[in-house]
Amino acid sequence: MTATEMTGIGVSPGTAAAPVARLAPPPAVPADTGPEPDTDAALTKARNALEAVAADLDARAARADGPTAAILSAQAMMPRDSALADKIAAALGDGRSTPHAIAEAFAFFRSALEAAGGYLAERAADLDDLRDRTIAVLLGLPMPGLPDPGHRFVLVARDLAPADTAALDPAKVAAIITEQGGPTSHTAILAKSMGLPAVVACPAAAALADGTEVLVDGGTGLVVPDPEPGRVRRVLDAEARRAAALAASRGPGRTADGHAVQLLVNLGSQADLAAAAAVDSEGVGLFRTEFLFLDRETAPTVDEQIEAYGQVFAAFSGRKVVVRTLDAGADKPLPFVDHGDEPNPALGVRGIRLARTEAGAALLDDQLTAISAAAAKHTADVWVMAPMVATPGEAAAFADQCRAHGLATAGTMIEVPAAALRASRVLDGCDFASLGTNDLGQYTLAADRMNGALAELLDPWQPALLDLVSLAAEAGREAEKPVGVCGEAASDPLLACVLVGLGVTSLSMAPSAVAAVRAELSTRTLADCAGMAAEALHANEGSEARLAVAAY
Ligand code: PEP
Ligand code: MG
Repeated sequence: MTATEMTGIGVSPGTAAAPVARLAPPPAVPADTGPEPDTDAALTKARNALEAVAADLDARAARADGPTAAILSAQAMMPRDSALADKIAAALGDGRSTPHAIAEAFAFFRSALEAAGGYLAERAADLDDLRDRTIAVLLGLPMPGLPDPGHRFVLVARDLAPADTAALDPAKVAAIITEQGGPTSHTAILAKSMGLPAVVACPAAAALADGTEVLVDGGTGLVVPDPEPGRVRRVLDAEARRAAALAASRGPGRTADGHAVQLLVNLGSQADLAAAAAVDSEGVGLFRTEFLFLDRETAPTVDEQIEAYGQVFAAFSGRKVVVRTLDAGADKPLPFVDHGDEPNPALGVRGIRLARTEAGAALLDDQLTAISAAAAKHTADVWVMAPMVATPGEAAAFADQCRAHGLATAGTMIEVPAAALRASRVLDGCDFASLGTNDLGQYTLAADRMNGALAELLDPWQPALLDLVSLAAEAGREAEKPVGVCGEAASDPLLACVLVGLGVTSLSMAPSAVAAVRAELSTRTLADCAGMAAEALHANEGSEARLAVAAY
């Protein structure tokens, strides 16, 4: 029987073919069934499970090299620690069922690490992972966590947290497919920044079993299980030809009649830095600093931040780098930030709003101190902007704070409709604005960006979103201050031309998208772009706007 093709939303272009490896969720610990009838036999089972986990880590270490191999080997020692088995034996003696005895023993050592603080406290999460793996082996469930089958694979998951995505090794992962997730989710953004083809909101992928060969098209969202080898060859050859043609595009962004549009890259992690810096761009239009800290249990010190920002500024010497201050909250909770218990985190104390709390204000102050100190040591042209600004007052207060830290160019992201509607007043108090069309889309259309079921409302072609872009760009033109776009909208070549037609002055996107956007822009005059923008604004739906512009 020919397996059925599946479709989801293509969120990171590129094609790949490889066998599936699934990300299994952590096992639920079954209810405590009380004392084991034979505690010796239960202890042997628990020891066997611990040994299986250690052996799996050893096997991974043998396939890895450098620091990863050393970390995995060190982790393999933990399940073999006799103190852990002793604790499990004690808990079994106290009448716990085996899974509970294991969970209790790990919890004991977790608290000990947390109490020790510093580096040891940061290892506490490793113990959670080892506990989940041990319980999964004990219960005969698939091993949770990122798979490592020993060959390149297509990662299939129900959903992926940004922290999981950031930990992926592009040398091992050929593509990503998630059953859930939206087109502008942070996981989609990270995949694009890593150049990994990705398809989200593909519920049929639930049926894909480990080892099934799949062909993935991260542009169209098509997933083909058990593809014919001839088809795979044709698709991959076409992809290689397309990449070679785009690699020939060079230089600053210009329309066909010479109107300059800065083309910049979005940067999300240290791991992407070298590849992002190598792209022919005028700099970084959005440096998402929170991604540096997603896996940290404690706040980074000012010195650690100076080092991290300095690496970015050094890689972009002489070019512009727009640093966005911490945007923690919503789908990017940070372990060291107390997000409280919010019923609607996307509408909660997120981004610049964190600075309303004492701890958040201290974090922001440290961050500005570190950015300023790092900027002073390098030649990059450092600009700073705040996420989730809603009012002119917030924009002006942030800009004043930046200036007090010696940071001369301070701006705001426009990703809340209120800020777009009052963009001219927002710009009164700061130097520039950058439209975050991902959040601006979710808040304008009242559609959670994580919710794949609302994909058409989250479409960056939605005319209501483009209306707000137009308002903000017009305000920038009047104030003679730059207004760019740094949301995913900028990485779609046709939509990028529409944004230029609406008046935006720069486009910042995943590094992998720059060449295609530059090439498209170079074929259109500014008047063409304005005509395309008028077509898009005339439409009633995102899909209609896209079709009208494609036909223009
Ligand atoms: C945006 O919202 O468009 C944006 C660029 O910020 P982020 O995607 O990191 O929320
Ligand atoms: Mg945003």
